[in-house]
Amino acid sequence: MIIGIIEDDKLLNQALRLVLQKAGYRITCAHTRQEALSLMGREEDLLLVDIGLPDGNGISLYQELKGRREIPAIFLTARDEEQDMLAAFDTGADDYVVKPFSMKVLLKRIETVLKRNNEKERISYRELLLFPAGKQVFVEGREIRLTAKEYQLLEYLMENQGQVLTKEMILEKIWGLEGQFVVDNTVSVTINRLRKKLEPDAGQSSYIKNVFGLGYRIGDK
Ligand code: CA
Repeated sequence: MIIGIIEDDKLLNQALRLVLQKAGYRITCAHTRQEALSLMGREEDLLLVDIGLPDGNGISLYQELKGRREIPAIFLTARDEEQDMLAAFDTGADDYVVKPFSMKVLLKRIETVLKRNNEKERISYRELLLFPAGKQVFVEGREIRLTAKEYQLLEYLMENQGQVLTKEMILEKIWGLEGQFVVDNTVSVTINRLRKKLEPDAGQSSYIKNVFGLGYRIGDK
């Protein structure tokens, strides 16, 4: 995970860098709006944005960076800037902390925002990528069109990576009450269609595994 720090207070910037690196994050640092615009917005998973920057306002900077790519942010604000935070939330800010803040609290907030965004934004396994919000599926960067049931089934498998899902579980989850009335091989037929769409050329699916006599699984335990 990469965190972008945008903070003009040199000591605070440095302290943040040390604490976050120690917590296992990779870091990009900027001290000004200009620096942030030239360095950031491509690969960061989260931004920490100081509202009062010497060459501009952190909120409009965030809007600009976000225009390049959807990216969550936690704002760092001085007490008298709390009013600005209302505006920041309108731009889609995820959270904020008021200076001086405890690093422990900040770390916790970072964890929460990253977790929330990951859950919300994507589920991945190897070259397979799902965006639940738009029900989109990509394989090696190519978008794949799925029917509603195929999508739900894939999402169910991806959400439970490494676990075997039995036919009964799948029927109940995806077909619900209708499950009692569908024909016996509905699940395996849907699985096979899904496999062909994900890997049209593969003789044997490397994504969705049969677990003999039990059910299906994506990913290893
Ligand atoms: Ca500042």
